Amino acid sequence: MPDLIPTAQKQLKFLKNIQLILQSGSFSSTYKFALLISLSRLAIEKGQDSGESLALEYIDIAEKFIELYWKQAVPYTFNDQGQLILNQNNGKQAAIVNRIIELRKIYSSLGLLRRDSLVWLKLLKDVARTVKEMPVRYLQNLNGQNFEFLYQLDQCGKQLTLLPQVMFCLRQFSEIIEELCQKHWIDYIRKNSTNAPILNKLPNLEQFMFEPSRNQLNAVACVLVELQECKCFYCNKPIRKGNYAVDHFIPWSMYPSDTGHNFVLADSNCNSKKSNLLASDEFLHKWRKRNKEQDLIIVDRIAVLGFLTDKERSHKVAEWAYAQANENNYIKWNG
Ligand SMILES: [Zn+2]
Repeated sequence: MPDLIPTAQKQLKFLKNIQLILQSGSFSSTYKFALLISLSRLAIEKGQDSGESLALEYIDIAEKFIELYWKQAVPYTFNDQGQLILNQNNGKQAAIVNRIIELRKIYSSLGLLRRDSLVWLKLLKDVARTVKEMPVRYLQNLNGQNFEFLYQLDQCGKQLTLLPQVMFCLRQFSEIIEELCQKHWIDYIRKNSTNAPILNKLPNLEQFMFEPSRNQLNAVACVLVELQECKCFYCNKPIRKGNYAVDHFIPWSMYPSDTGHNFVLADSNCNSKKSNLLASDEFLHKWRKRNKEQDLIIVDRIAVLGFLTDKERSHKVAEWAYAQANENNYIKWNG
């Protein structure tokens, strides 16, 4: 009975999956955020509170994209630091934004652009094509693994068909989804180095208020280089000079508090591939073993750097994290 309203448990799982995509997906542009927001808004505008599936026109999704980017395609000004149109892409500006920038030179408002129906329709079609080829295709891809809980790609031809119960959940959680997407979107823009000339000048309160300082982590790295004999915790290969990072074994995104035993040293390659994912069970065993064998050194050397170091507590956190992962089918990184 696919048309039933999802159980409370299923609804929560849906929300967890949204969060997972935002935390662990790779974002080469901001299109995926725009897509999630668009789907959530369209579920409200076109759907109803039932467990049925919902077929959406790509043109309608495109219209939502245009609305979102129209607002952001003007120069952002901060104090007198200059002006900048925010780069929404890892490389050159995102194609949809470029189109809109050009159109903004001709039409002073979205309303005027809409009235020019030939231009408007062409824009809708072009944006719809990009949406279909890019974010729709990659949104549910986590580190190369398919994670189709919103729609099935092979069933999305002329329309994007939300799976049964998805419309219901999007409507149920739209405020949370909007807020999550906005937060991650803003983070992306701020961290995109091409936006740095202006955004660098803004204080990074998030890091200041919640994250460990660079200095602290550098000091941890020195301890770990010794402890791991300058080898990567994951692939065991010797780390080339300076080419490493202090990795949170239980990802920071899952548990944003630093405890001494949670740190491992990884080469840049493994570190960036593991990203926000949990490592496989094999690594969990290795990590527990490391903590058991080197407990005293970790307590001795890392506690003085200002971190809570308590093996039992770190292992409790790991237990919780892996139980969450198993319950919610989180994808793990296999190294
Ligand atoms: Zn490695």
